Amino acid sequence: MRVSQLFIPTMREVPAEAEVVSHQLLLRAGFIRKVAAGIYHFLPLAQRVLHKITAIIREEMDRAGGQEILMPIIQPAELWHQSNRWNVYGPELFRLRDRHERDFCLGPTHEEMVTALVASEVRSYRQLPLLLYQIQNKYRDERRPRFGLLRGREFIMKDLYSFDRDEAGLDVSYWKMFAAYTRIFTRMGLRFRAVEADTGAIGGNASHEFMVLADSGEAVVVYCPDEACGYAANAEKAESLLVPYEGGDEGPLELVATPGRRTVEEVTAFLGLPTQRLIKTLIYRTERGLVAALVRGDREVNEVKLQNHLGVLSLELADETAIEAATGAPVGFAGPVHLDLPLVVDREVANLKAAVAGANRADAHYVNVCPGRDFSVADVADIRLVTAGDPCPRCGEAMRTVKGIEVGQVFKLGEKYSRLMGAYYLDEQGVKRPMVMGCYGIGVSRTMAAAVEQNHDADGIVWPASIAPFHAVVLPVNSQDARQVAAAEGVYQILSGAGLEVVLDDRDERPGVKFKDADLIGYPVRVTAGRHVAEGKVEVRRRRTGETLLVAETEVVAAVQ
Ligand code: ATP
Ligand code: MG
Ligand code: MG
Ligand code: MG
Repeated sequence: MRVSQLFIPTMREVPAEAEVVSHQLLLRAGFIRKVAAGIYHFLPLAQRVLHKITAIIREEMDRAGGQEILMPIIQPAELWHQSNRWNVYGPELFRLRDRHERDFCLGPTHEEMVTALVASEVRSYRQLPLLLYQIQNKYRDERRPRFGLLRGREFIMKDLYSFDRDEAGLDVSYWKMFAAYTRIFTRMGLRFRAVEADTGAIGGNASHEFMVLADSGEAVVVYCPDEACGYAANAEKAESLLVPYEGGDEGPLELVATPGRRTVEEVTAFLGLPTQRLIKTLIYRTERGLVAALVRGDREVNEVKLQNHLGVLSLELADETAIEAATGAPVGFAGPVHLDLPLVVDREVANLKAAVAGANRADAHYVNVCPGRDFSVADVADIRLVTAGDPCPRCGEAMRTVKGIEVGQVFKLGEKYSRLMGAYYLDEQGVKRPMVMGCYGIGVSRTMAAAVEQNHDADGIVWPASIAPFHAVVLPVNSQDARQVAAAEGVYQILSGAGLEVVLDDRDERPGVKFKDADLIGYPVRVTAGRHVAEGKVEVRRRRTGETLLVAETEVVAAVQ
C-alpha cells in the first residue's frame, strides 16, 4: 500500500480535551476521529490494529474451546426484567422504544441474551460445558466518557460466557479463560498483571482483572514484591481485606435521617464525608420505589462494582420480594449519576441494614451499629485504601502499588442468571439443575488505547510488532532521486512478496515530514533508501530502540523480521 493513497489524516494540533497520551496520539496519527462524546470512527490504521487484536483473541478463545457467535446489539427489555437488571442497571443503560412502544436497550453486556439463548436450546448434561463468545460493539452511557477509547460509550468488547454442570466445571472454565487471557496479553506484547478483583463479595465468587500497567491508569494495583507469593489485587479489593467481616448480630442497624430532597453530593456534604471517601450503601425511597445506590469515591469507574454490590445487597437483604412486599415498589437502583430524586430515608428502610459509612451526625446517624458487620472498622475510623508498605495478606511482605488500566475481567457468576432466566439442564440421574456460569470480557478498543499508553515516546506510538498496523514503512529519502525511488519500490516489492505488511511512503514530501509521520504512526521498522543505494544498501531502523543498520537490499527481509 502506498501512503499517497492511504486515508491517514494526521494532524498537528490535538484538541485540548485529549488529556491522555493514547487519545492524543491516536488522533494525531490519524487512527481515530471523534463523532460525539465517547463515540469514535476507527480509520484504516486503527481498523488494522483492531483486526490484529481480535485475531489473537479469537485464536486463544477457540484454543480454549470457545465457539464464536454473534448476538444482536438490540436487546428486549423483557429479558432485563427477568434478570431484575432493567431497573438495577441505572442510567448507564442506553434505552430505546420501538414504534409499537416496546422497550429495548443497546447491549452493555450480554448475560441476559446468552443465558436466554442457552436456556431455550440446552437440555442435557451432555451438552455442557458450553463456552460461547462474541466480539461486538457494546453501549454504556458512561457518566464521564473520557480518555478517548479508554472510556467510550460505544466500544468493542469480546465477551465469553461459560455454562457448566457444577462449580467444579466452572472452576475449570474459569482457569482456562484466565490462562487464555494471560496468553492474549502476552502475545500482544503488553506488560500486564492479573489481579484479584472486588466481586462485591458475592458469596465467595472469584474475579480477576487484567491490568495493563501504565501511569495513566485509573486503577491502583497493590502487589507483593515477593514473586513466590505473587499476591496482587485491585486496591479496592485489597481494602476490604484490611478488616475482614467477622459476623455477629447485635440487632438491626438503623439509620435515622432527616427526610428531604437531596443529591448524592448533598448527602455526602450533609454527612460530612469527603467526596473521595468510600460511601457504602444508600437506600432511597424514590418516585421509582426503593432504590439502593452504592457509591465509591472514584465513582465513574465503578459502575460494575455497583451492580455487584447490589447483588450482595439483595442477598443480604434476604430477598427482593420481601422488600417489594414491604414497600409496594420494585427494588431499583439509582447510579451515582441521576440521584436527584426525592430522597426519603426512614426507619423502615434503614431497618434493611442500610449502611452509610462514617455517618454519625445529629441529623443522620445510626443506632445499633455493629462494626465489622455493618461496615468495616476502616469505614468507621478513617477509610483508606491499602497502599504501598501495607503488609501482604498472604505473606506479610510490604506491598507495592502500581497504576493500571483494566483491559479484561474474568468473573465467576455462579447460578444467578441461570436461575433467573431458567437455564437448567438434566444431569445423569435426570435431576434438573441450574447451569453454573462465568463471564469473561476484554475491552478490544480499550486494549488498543492501553497499548499506546504503555508504548510511546516523545515522537509518537511504538506499536508492539504483533498488533502494529503494518510491520514496516519503506521510504526514499529524496523523492526526486530516481535511484532512491526505484530502490524503495524494489524493497517494498521484496517485503510485500515475503508476506510482510508494508507501506511505501511515496509522497513527494521532505524527508523530515516522512520520518516524523513514520515515528508518529509507530511502524515497528522503517526502511530508508538514501545515499547508500549506490552500494545496493538501505537503512533499517527499529522504532523502539532507534537501532539502525545498513543492509543489502537482498537481505532486507531477514533484517525487518
Ligand atoms: P470500568 O471499571 O473501567 O468501568 P468495567 O469493569 O465496567 O470497566 P466490564 O463490565 O468488566 O467493564 O467489561 C469488560 C471490559 O470491557 C473491561 O475490562 C474493559 O476493558 C472494557 N470496557 C468497559 N467499559 C468500557 C468503556 N466505557 N470503554 C471502553 N472499554 C470498556
Ligand atoms: Mg471495572
Ligand atoms: Mg464500568
Ligand atoms: Mg470489569
